[in-house]
Amino acid sequence: MLIYFNGKLVKKEDAKVSVFDHGLLYGDGVFEGIRSYDCLVFKLREHIDRLYASAQGISLKIPMQKREMEKAIVGTLKANKLKDAYIRVVVTRGEGDLGLDPRNCRHATVFIITDKIALYAAELYHKGLKIVTVPTRRNIPEALNPQIKSLNYLNNILGKIEAINAGVPEALMLDQNGFVTECTGDNIFMIKDDVLVTPPVSVGVLNGITRGAVLEVAAKAGLKTCERMVTRFELYVADEMFLTGTAAELIPVVMIDGRLIGAGNVGKHTSALIGVFKKITKKDGVRYAL
Ligand code: PMP
Repeated sequence: MLIYFNGKLVKKEDAKVSVFDHGLLYGDGVFEGIRSYDCLVFKLREHIDRLYASAQGISLKIPMQKREMEKAIVGTLKANKLKDAYIRVVVTRGEGDLGLDPRNCRHATVFIITDKIALYAAELYHKGLKIVTVPTRRNIPEALNPQIKSLNYLNNILGKIEAINAGVPEALMLDQNGFVTECTGDNIFMIKDDVLVTPPVSVGVLNGITRGAVLEVAAKAGLKTCERMVTRFELYVADEMFLTGTAAELIPVVMIDGRLIGAGNVGKHTSALIGVFKKITKKDGVRYAL
């Protein structure tokens, strides 16, 4: 396996960051999770834009232009001869001292890993997920805005631990006022009376690329869509529910906090959206040849 590491392709064993890297010491950095499907990097430009926006949000200068980043990502996929892959792009503040001051980190660290990922067991895509609302609240935008895809994922990991302790694979996190935000690595959607509803980005959720794609294809398919605040009760009485994310894609939810959603199986709108989503992953992005 070859890793892009600060401008070079190196073997996995040689791709090592310093113990003084602030990405490791403080979670000071940003990242992206991207996917390629049959030699097409799905929504690559959107992911790169979000990476640079996250970096801007934490005053981190990525030491390469967007175009170069695109080449580096595609180059890593080609070097590893991967048609279908999960791509992780990481930019850290770089090596510094033991203080917090980012000015002491002279060069950002940039690496790209191309590999595979399976977030949830394959059978759950047919049977649907069971999730729970967890006590840990999602970071408030005024503290660490969830729109910044930073390396500091401890808030999400605390949620994940609480879900695992409750015996389910995923956690729903609420905001400070009890409104629905998102899951630990996915956005959440519900369908009620033929309207597709998801919380607005402003509540404090990642502006998911899959979320955006689903809203777009749903509207094109004639389904009414709405971004608005959602309460836990509304989820309990929803007709259908699913999560979206690059790694997760679209995964149905059939139970939340012990309440069965709809008939407890994958709903008609969810199935239809999974179908259209699969189609756009084959055309909406940057192509490459091996
Ligand atoms: N929310 C969080 C917290 C995430 O980590 C992710 C995965 N990147 C998502 C939502 C989904 O975003 P996307 O569709 O861009 O992968």
